[in-house]
Amino acid sequence: MAENLLNFDAQQLADWFAEQGEKPFRARQVLRWIHKMGESDFAAMSDIANSLREKLQQQACVTAPVVQREELSTDGTRKWLLNVGTGNAVETVYIPEAERGTLCVSTQAGCALDCSFCSTGKQGFNRNLSTAEIVGQLWWANREIGKDANGNWPISNVVFMGMGEPLLNFNNTVSALRLMLDDNAYGLSRRRVTVSTSGIVPAMDRLREECPVALAVSLHAPNDALRDVLVPVNQKYPLRELLAACNRYLEKAPRDFITFEYVMLAGVNDSEKQARELVSLVRDVPCKFNLIPFNPIPQVQYQRSGSDAIRRFRDVLMQADIVTTTRKTRGDDIAGACGQLAGQVLDKTKRTRNLAGAGL
Ligand code: SAH
Ligand code: SF4
Repeated sequence: MAENLLNFDAQQLADWFAEQGEKPFRARQVLRWIHKMGESDFAAMSDIANSLREKLQQQACVTAPVVQREELSTDGTRKWLLNVGTGNAVETVYIPEAERGTLCVSTQAGCALDCSFCSTGKQGFNRNLSTAEIVGQLWWANREIGKDANGNWPISNVVFMGMGEPLLNFNNTVSALRLMLDDNAYGLSRRRVTVSTSGIVPAMDRLREECPVALAVSLHAPNDALRDVLVPVNQKYPLRELLAACNRYLEKAPRDFITFEYVMLAGVNDSEKQARELVSLVRDVPCKFNLIPFNPIPQVQYQRSGSDAIRRFRDVLMQADIVTTTRKTRGDDIAGACGQLAGQVLDKTKRTRNLAGAGL
């Protein structure tokens, strides 16, 4: 079968070229064609020798996931449903803003972690996405939207906040990250690529060593008793360990703070008392908070906190000198807002197996 070159980061592509008896600079040229130019047709790679182009046409391909459906929000947000085979689909969301274009990518079909307020979690887990399926979301979205008047791709920022837990699909996530950062591919700054995790402590340590990028941690509760319920993986990696891992991460992170995400659930985690508890919890971690108004999903009864409650909660954090923003809800008319990505995941039976495989 033809080798899909979207699966390879720079080193892996060089290794594959070496196996074919080709020089490393050829791999670099092809990498640039694929990612910088968005080219999938080897015949069009004009500075590559004809013989190599023919060989690549026979042995390789550049194949991103197939788009099943596109939806456009009234606020300009675009959502694509991508077919990842065997009845599964995942979602990618593009959020245009004045100063930047952000792509929110998925890393798994479904998710095993079953956070109580998350639509993806309610789907169960099906499988990890390949590197091609992860980086292919960026490759495809750039091509679809097209370069701007200055010849730049529209996407300047990537957030791993779509479907799935990126750190439970570690190797493919890291290969995709390396491509996003590589000057011969997308050349994004480490500060503009953010991995969001529910708190997989050992994998946070690995990420720090192997490919440190900006880190967002889904906190959502000021104590273990509540977090155990909202984010069940907390039972495995409780807050004390998680916060210690955050500080270790900061030793090598491109930013000098962790972003804590905190979904605002009315009457559950949004009181001023809980805000004060949170302030003392994170006292020793340089951080910013991003409050996410809960986006309703069909399967659960939670309600979004009122705007007054969110403001009061934010004020408690701000008075403690913690920079706090409230996330604008974008694309909620197309179920493209945080936690609403559902895609389509058929096999829900693998949750336990994945947890076992992930060493959880
Ligand atoms: N698995 C990773 C990344 C994907 S989820 C993680 O959990 O961090 C991205 C963010 O959306 C997380 O902070 C998650 O808790 C939040 N989220 C999930 N469901 C949500 C919902 N219904 N409303 C608002 N935010 C939600
Ligand atoms: Fe998985 Fe993140 Fe959803 Fe939790 S919030 S179920 S970790 S995708």
